[in-house]
Amino acid sequence: MKAAVLRALDQPLKLEDVKIPVPGPEEVLIQVMACGMDAADMMILSGFGYVPKLPHVLGHETAGIITAVGDQVTDFNPGDRVAVYNYFYCGKCVYCRVHREQLCIHMSGILGILERPGGHAEYTVALAHQLVRVPENVAWHDAAVCCDAGITAFHAVDRGGVRLGETVLVIGIGGVGSMVTQICKASGTRVIVAVLDEERGRRALEMGADHILYSRHVNVPEAVRELTAGLGADCVIDVVGVEETFTYGMDTLRRGGRLVLIGYTPERYPLKGEQLDQNELNIIGTRGGRLSDLNGIVRLVAEGRIKSVVTDLFPLEEANEALAFLRSGRALGRVVLLTPSGRKAMGR
Ligand SMILES: [Zn+2]
Repeated sequence: MKAAVLRALDQPLKLEDVKIPVPGPEEVLIQVMACGMDAADMMILSGFGYVPKLPHVLGHETAGIITAVGDQVTDFNPGDRVAVYNYFYCGKCVYCRVHREQLCIHMSGILGILERPGGHAEYTVALAHQLVRVPENVAWHDAAVCCDAGITAFHAVDRGGVRLGETVLVIGIGGVGSMVTQICKASGTRVIVAVLDEERGRRALEMGADHILYSRHVNVPEAVRELTAGLGADCVIDVVGVEETFTYGMDTLRRGGRLVLIGYTPERYPLKGEQLDQNELNIIGTRGGRLSDLNGIVRLVAEGRIKSVVTDLFPLEEANEALAFLRSGRALGRVVLLTPSGRKAMGR
């Protein structure tokens, strides 16, 4: 099979012929149709964050069709359409038992990120208990991005305890921000989106945002207070997570408000204890999502309640071109690679 292989950090991926993997007793073999590519892939390529053993195959937004199942697999069959939950969770530890699989302490890998080769290939392998069924009406590229952009957004909105009638400030409108905006709207909240430029402002409006703030030109906390009778936002969901956004995100919260941090950098954030305590603010971390969050976002997409956040498709064979496009900063939404089978299935 063809795979885009990472042989050395900071070097182009190599399109190689490699052996089709063989699934273990509890695993399935998946013919990949579509797999996203995002900032996490760029981070891994440059050696920041997760450091996989090389050679490695990236790809942590994978959707496809099961072609073989291990002896002990009973819930899935060849021909099933699936999206892959990235965490190879144990199913038995204290976190798995309460269905917080992304916090599993005996994880044996993360698809396309650590230990396990991902979906930038024609086939990949996952444990059967990592799979979520994908209805026929969901396009392959949309199913793929549920596995990271979608699940991350769904879980973050849940972590933020976002409720009907509240006002949420979303900072950043790439793939994840687009998903967060739509999920908040589907939850009956008013959504204000902070963006850098007009192109992204238009994008946020397309995703259903009620108000756009250009963070280079306005004082975001003041502007949000003007829109909320002087109170501030009930919840801020910071998809960017740099010092500047953290600071204005905190300053935007109303008393008792919640700040959910999705994005982050290696730096520490400046935290004012007085501001935190006197206003009873909450800072909430979020990691990917639970298996149930992946089910949730696939369901919302299948019901037609979430518009596609995929803006650019590339053939698997042009993985390096897709990377260059991502690095250029021109991607307004999610970038997805299609395998030859995926292109055929989608008539492209
Ligand atoms: Zn576990």
